[in-house]
Amino acid sequence: MSKHFVPVVWSSNRKVRLLLLAAIGLAFWADRGRAQPSGERVQSLDTAAIITPHSDDWPSYGLDYKEQRFSPLEQIDRSNVSSLGLAWHFDADYTRGIEATPIVVDGIMYVTGSWSVVYALDAKTGKLLWKFDPQVPKSVGASTCCDVVNRGVAVYEGKVIFGALDTRLFALDAKTGAKLWETLTADRTKGDYTMTGAPRVANGRVFIGNGGAEFGVRGYVSAYAAESGELLWRFFTVPGNPADAPEDELHARAAKTWQGEWWKNGGGGTVWDSIVYDSELDRLYIGTGNGSPWNRRQRGSGGGDNLFVSSVIALEPATGKYIWHYQEVPGETWDYTATQTIMLAEMPWQGSARKVLWHAPKNGFFYIIDRTNGKLLSAEPYSKQNWAKGYDLETGRPIFNPDADWTQTDKPVTVIPGHGGAHNWHPMAYSPQTRFVYIPEQEYPIQFQRRAHSGVHHNVFNVGTQLVAATPDSPLLLEAFTHETFKGALLAWDPFAQRVAFRVQHPSVGNGGILATAGGLVFQGIEGTASLDAYDAKNGEKLWSFDTQETPVAPAVSYVVDGEQYIAIGVGRGGTVGLFAASDRPLPASGRFMAWKLGGKATLPAPSVPVSYGDPPPPSDQQREAAARGEETFRAMCVRCHGLKGASNRRVPDLRRLPRAYYDMFESVVLDGAADAAGMPGFGHVLSREQVADIKAYVLVEAEIDRNLRAQPKWWVDLKLSFYRLFAKVVAPLM
Ligand code: CA
Repeated sequence: MSKHFVPVVWSSNRKVRLLLLAAIGLAFWADRGRAQPSGERVQSLDTAAIITPHSDDWPSYGLDYKEQRFSPLEQIDRSNVSSLGLAWHFDADYTRGIEATPIVVDGIMYVTGSWSVVYALDAKTGKLLWKFDPQVPKSVGASTCCDVVNRGVAVYEGKVIFGALDTRLFALDAKTGAKLWETLTADRTKGDYTMTGAPRVANGRVFIGNGGAEFGVRGYVSAYAAESGELLWRFFTVPGNPADAPEDELHARAAKTWQGEWWKNGGGGTVWDSIVYDSELDRLYIGTGNGSPWNRRQRGSGGGDNLFVSSVIALEPATGKYIWHYQEVPGETWDYTATQTIMLAEMPWQGSARKVLWHAPKNGFFYIIDRTNGKLLSAEPYSKQNWAKGYDLETGRPIFNPDADWTQTDKPVTVIPGHGGAHNWHPMAYSPQTRFVYIPEQEYPIQFQRRAHSGVHHNVFNVGTQLVAATPDSPLLLEAFTHETFKGALLAWDPFAQRVAFRVQHPSVGNGGILATAGGLVFQGIEGTASLDAYDAKNGEKLWSFDTQETPVAPAVSYVVDGEQYIAIGVGRGGTVGLFAASDRPLPASGRFMAWKLGGKATLPAPSVPVSYGDPPPPSDQQREAAARGEETFRAMCVRCHGLKGASNRRVPDLRRLPRAYYDMFESVVLDGAADAAGMPGFGHVLSREQVADIKAYVLVEAEIDRNLRAQPKWWVDLKLSFYRLFAKVVAPLM
């Protein structure tokens, strides 16, 4: 099969040219350690700007209804952050990803870990007060795109309200953790609905959506009575089957932007993250997800806009009635969700103060939208992108780059950003002191390649799309190219000047959400170093770093108990999302919550999960021949949890390094669900015995490559990796 992921120059008959390229690359090697950030644009402090009322708590998801994630607390500041020390840590029940924003009310922290378990902790000591495990069936993990995560609870009038992965919505007694009510929010027989988002609550109404646009579902948002769990209203983001119950006028209008039988695969538009209540205008803004499946021509687009995928929609909170929408990417076909942080603000615009919302979704543009009427005021790229040439502000529509449309060719097309987005769910933050929005930004180019697709893709990840075209045989070369191709940064964006203020380049993609504080600080979890770092909000200078042993991808929060300010975060990197993520670092025994204060003296126990290398059998000659077929199926079915080459980051087992017994029972695990209880369900309904044999063959070939690499002296492997990185540094920008 072709090896498109790495340019075609990497073929055996062109090695000489390669060496020349690498030698040229040596010239670039000298400046590889040159420090970012630049920090040349430092603004005067404007503390008179909008700051939330002084509060000791972190009472709701984005701190308050504006969701700016700016803590007004200032005990911890630029001058003393170096003496920030660990106050406590709490070990959660599971090892998988933690994405929750901790909610802190009256000295109690309410958080969710992986598998939707809720913990109430003493926010001063980390002591467990109660926990509630909704007992989500582990098989649900198979229909999550991006690990068994949860972004947190809402606390409202003595209740803790949260959504479990299997789409049940719960209200618990905040004092005891006792269940008050429970309601099912989606029919999982109609598609692989999941729920990872944090509910928002206002005026007695709980607002929640769901995920699943990678698995063929129809998106919607619902409102429930906080008191009883009764369903109050539901708003569908895409039209349903016209043959079913008659739709309202709005959805009939939306249906005209679709063709064919789009409802068979749901259509997508899932409201899986941002839902923001506007207390000034009494409105709800929701961000909608990508179309389902990704290839718009396979979901009956016919070139239409496919309303309302990839949009921001304003609704009446009392009724769910539509007010306005703004579609960021008409006819979306790159997994460009518009679900990322919606932040409410006020700003001067052409001479008058405007109520606006700020939005930096996956597609790489920063939008300023008038929230009174949904009119686009500005859309400027905050990150590298090649799908649009800009926006026509008159029509509010993007000017598409036709070269980025991969749906009309059989060739792979490199699009930046790819499905990982220039900014994913990791929340951004705004500081009214610096007037910068801090975005966990990334360079995430992906090759999209269309595949044949017919029928319904229940429980199958995005049929109709090849996510990445191919990978090189050498794990070292793949690591080098992953490192050079996928990049992450702390980006300070000036929404007033609509330009980048500064960028702090991180070692890797996949960094955490952001907290800004009145102490002039910005906090972010860093992948690659597995640390929580603090930066000067004015210029990005790194002022503090703490080794958290695993990357905190969640955003930090801040609160005060007994006169002391704390910084707290959940730590759990979770499963991989398709990239090469092999790690030879020991890991903590579970996901964790951690809190720091000035002069904190607590320490973490040493990581207790060592690297193990398993005992894979060598592949037979027949298996070597089947491996290429297996790789194709592996990419379509397994890669999103197990990573390229099966080399996950070990929170999901590294398939190259399992004990021998697992290879002996490979078929019963993959087909029949023998490891279902551990979170690996059977795929017998979508995979044939022959396909599973091919996958096994591929895994054994990768295991052999891994074993051979480990048999080589470390100095030699390190030297080769340095060489490949040089090569990738030269070649990756040309791809
Ligand atoms: Ca998606």
